[in-house]
Amino acid sequence: MQVPFVSLDRQYLSMRDGLIAEFDRVGRSGVYIMGDTLERFEAEAAAYCEVPFALGVASGSDALFLILKALDIGPGDEVITCPNSFVATAWVIVAAGARPVFVDVSEDYNIDPTLLERAITPRTKAIIPVHLTGRPAEMDRVNDIARRRRIAVVEDAAQAIGARYKGRRVGSLSTAAGFSLHPIKNLGVMGDGGFVATDSRAIYERISKLRNHGLRNRDECEMWGYNSRLDPLQAGFASIKLKRLDAWNQRCREIAGQYRKGLSDVVWVPRDRDHEESVYHTFVIQLEERDRLVEHLSRQGVGSRIHYPIPIHLQECANSLGYGPGVFPVTERLARRILSLPIYPELTDAEIGHVIASVRSFFQA
Ligand SMILES: *Cc1c(COP(=O)(O)O)cnc(C)c1O
Repeated sequence: MQVPFVSLDRQYLSMRDGLIAEFDRVGRSGVYIMGDTLERFEAEAAAYCEVPFALGVASGSDALFLILKALDIGPGDEVITCPNSFVATAWVIVAAGARPVFVDVSEDYNIDPTLLERAITPRTKAIIPVHLTGRPAEMDRVNDIARRRRIAVVEDAAQAIGARYKGRRVGSLSTAAGFSLHPIKNLGVMGDGGFVATDSRAIYERISKLRNHGLRNRDECEMWGYNSRLDPLQAGFASIKLKRLDAWNQRCREIAGQYRKGLSDVVWVPRDRDHEESVYHTFVIQLEERDRLVEHLSRQGVGSRIHYPIPIHLQECANSLGYGPGVFPVTERLARRILSLPIYPELTDAEIGHVIASVRSFFQA
């Protein structure tokens, strides 16, 4: 049996007729940039995230970047985030002209609030907690510190659409949040895409212009901006898929439950804490013999990946920031031990059983 790590064609085939009809509807509308289809998705995304405003943009990275621009973050400023994320989390800070300052994570892969205070300087303008693996960061503690120090908080919610923290949806837990609609995310379109969620009218209004060349209207340009819009075609696909998202996330939580049941006696497995509902964008186990398990799984036909094998502070692009090995011990230890197993709603119970049996047979051998 082959269990691929991702298999996007399965989701496409499960809803092909609806997506083709949407392609045809947008085609016939003659509106391929901005317009009603985009606005409808924005209203739905805002309602879903339990915030007043959402704006479609070209990618999750752009969502974060435009939020930093809307907050007037630039040269001379520092933005705190964690080093075990997808590189875009730090790149958007550099793109805005500011300096990324890293803080190590806790065992939950998310920013460790106890390390925040000592990383804050007079130049710190924002903190970007990442809801990595689909699990919400410790937002109350991050927000408490940020409020006291008058710093903005921007959620990197790229991996966590639909997750809840103390009953509230991620994206509603900070000044503004960036979401990704990249095909491999829990809500993925057929190309790049993303959106900003915010409860701040000022940020909403600034980003509506920034994403569209800085235009106030068709002819008047208020500020230098960018071309970073979500295509109506992708917004149309996202609308259709959003209706299924809760069921998909629920299925991922179920699969996580099966993995936990089948594997908790042989490897470290993630568990939800009482106040949170993770959407399991990834299901990450931990073990010392990680590299040998990758090979064993591949021989059993099971795809696996590491998110992420090289922490951002040790990437070549980050050399100039001056961090070396040993600075973030938790991140660096996790990078040697973590492994993501296949998790997507279309996995069959037989496939889940095969993944579990394959991991277990590694320890029996
Ligand atoms: C995917 C991802 C991004 C970037 O989203 P894109 O839509 O690919 O630009 C940012 N942060 C995290 C944590 C991600 O997983």
